[in-house]
Amino acid sequence: MSQTLFEKIAAREISAQIVFEDDLVLAIRDINPQAPTHVLIFPKRAVPRIAEATPDDHKLLGHLLLKAAEVAKKLDLKGGYRLVINNGVDGGETVPHLHVHLLGGRHLAWPPG
Ligand code: AMP
Repeated sequence: MSQTLFEKIAAREISAQIVFEDDLVLAIRDINPQAPTHVLIFPKRAVPRIAEATPDDHKLLGHLLLKAAEVAKKLDLKGGYRLVINNGVDGGETVPHLHVHLLGGRHLAWPPG
């Protein structure tokens, strides 16, 4: 199987602005930010999307969310922030490797477009 974009970033084959890393996850700045702070947090082990996660992934998914909150704290998003997971075409997914968007630094409208 060919590597996903985010696996290539994790392997340092493609450069990215890394804001956090541990054994299981990586957090990078989004290349096309939609807010003053826009970070992507993803597991190093590729899960294509949340709809394809299995019970075996439950610890990884918990870790992913906890680290997203930790990154938000590190980036000092005192006014609040939003975590987003896009799933499938209608959800706006463009990279088939599960990732959480962390958006902050401005007021975010609801509902999203
Ligand atoms: P999604 O549309 O939810 O699949 O999110 C994919 C995100 O990856 C988009 O916000 C893109 O701007 C971002 N992206 C694509 N290529 C790169 C890259 N090389 N480095 C950082 N972010 C990227």
